Amino acid sequence: MYPNGTPRQAKISHLVTHGSEPALRGILLGYPRLKNAHGAPISLPLSACRPASTMAKLDILEFPDPRLRLEAKPVEAFDSRLRQLADDMLETMYEAPGIGLAATQVNEQKRLLVIDVSENHDAPMVLVNPELLDARGSEVCQEGCLSFPGVFADVERKEWIRVKAQDVSGKPLEIETDGLLAVCIQHEMDHLIGKVFVDYLSPLKRSLLLRKLEKQRRKAG
Ligand SMILES: [Zn+2]
Repeated sequence: MYPNGTPRQAKISHLVTHGSEPALRGILLGYPRLKNAHGAPISLPLSACRPASTMAKLDILEFPDPRLRLEAKPVEAFDSRLRQLADDMLETMYEAPGIGLAATQVNEQKRLLVIDVSENHDAPMVLVNPELLDARGSEVCQEGCLSFPGVFADVERKEWIRVKAQDVSGKPLEIETDGLLAVCIQHEMDHLIGKVFVDYLSPLKRSLLLRKLEKQRRKAG
């Protein structure tokens, strides 16, 4: 997803992390209110825990690639390959630049997404096997998508959500949030079921937007 609006704080609970584990390589770390098992805030700078040499930029599928319609499968193996994929997705998202990326968009059919809605791009989140537990209200937000470069549209989303997921090492976490983070999580979770933001538009708005997308592509060469 492309950035838009101002991020608000999320309440993240039930998160247990242990400072000495390799899982602390910065993948899940750094959301402003994340705390470790002892209640201390986790604030490792991204650069301290993500050695650049181990990351690779991935190709992002662009609409109307049919692989964007594939449904992701639950992650069962919380291994080094998953951590590498999450690292690579974060790298790809930051370089795009974007604020969210789902595994589906890099042709990996896994229920995995990465997000960073912080102003300084120093608060990466990795959500594995996310599930919506509760949602309230509605709000309209202008959204963009890394699979639709250069076009934006208003989409109605739930205003507040509660989501459970696992971190990259398999530990459970729960997030209650609203604002930009809530919109971003909903947008990225849609990708995992093969849904994209233009699916919410009326046929007319959708065709106008897709025509604009074509124009942008021709301009980009
Ligand atoms: Zn998207």
